[in-house]
Amino acid sequence: MENILKGKVAVVTGGTRGIGYAIVQKFLKAGASVALCGSKESTARGALERIKNEFPEAPVKAIWPVLTDSKSVEKAFSEVAEEFGSLDILANNAGISQSTPFYEYTEQEIDKILNLNIKAVMICSQAAAKLMKGKGGVIVNTSSVVSLYGQPSGCGYPASKYAVNGITKSLARELAKDRIRVNAVAPGIIRTDMVANLPESMIQPLIKTIPIGRMGEAEDIANAFVFLASDFASYITGAVLSVDGGVMI
Ligand code: NAD
Repeated sequence: MENILKGKVAVVTGGTRGIGYAIVQKFLKAGASVALCGSKESTARGALERIKNEFPEAPVKAIWPVLTDSKSVEKAFSEVAEEFGSLDILANNAGISQSTPFYEYTEQEIDKILNLNIKAVMICSQAAAKLMKGKGGVIVNTSSVVSLYGQPSGCGYPASKYAVNGITKSLARELAKDRIRVNAVAPGIIRTDMVANLPESMIQPLIKTIPIGRMGEAEDIANAFVFLASDFASYITGAVLSVDGGVMI
């Protein structure tokens, strides 16, 4: 996959750890210039330092806009486009999960997950599309296997990922005329902090149902992002690509 993103400029939200960090690594290996987004300056700078140790010469920078604030996102993305020459790829990866039982849900928890997992995806996509319009570009969203089957507790999370699929398919239709492709990757159970925070009683039974017989790695998901962001996927838009070891839960 070396050089298949050569000359492209990408923004990766939630690029400081887990799946997002793996996407940053793979995009750089594929020849892209990358802006990794963190929720805070300290974590964004920390991730930048790690990535610079791995790829000393890499064209990479750190940004930390508030993803739910369109002005903050537009300013940060414009600065990326100015510094690197364009914005060609947006990986909407930042997200949180929840396992709250339904009777215990608070309004604050509902707002929190809908704000980051849905509102931020729309705001970041809009800011990126404004910069891509005319020249073309690619948006890749992070959905989830829960957008197919729901989950037994914490319904805010699958609700948000069903919405991500809806945004993906709708923007694919609306933005095709501007030569912007919009797809999503739907990861299964992937070994990151997000899964480490879930109860073992939820995870262990799930792993037993994976036909490929193991939990996914962040790298498995990042490979799908590289493919969908590349010209190898030039006739693919509106797709939600499952990368889940074949799980049907
Ligand atoms: P993670 O918790 O390791 O990383 C989440 C990332 O989102 C971090 O970089 C974090 O900084 C960022 N983030 C969190 N809150 C933020 C905020 N308020 N503003 C800006 N950024 C914020 O999780 P992960 O497993 O790497 O998840 C990445 C994406 O993959 C998420 O969208 C998640 O829903 C999705 N996903 C993960 C799994 C899994 O099994 N790990 C499965 C399906 C989908």
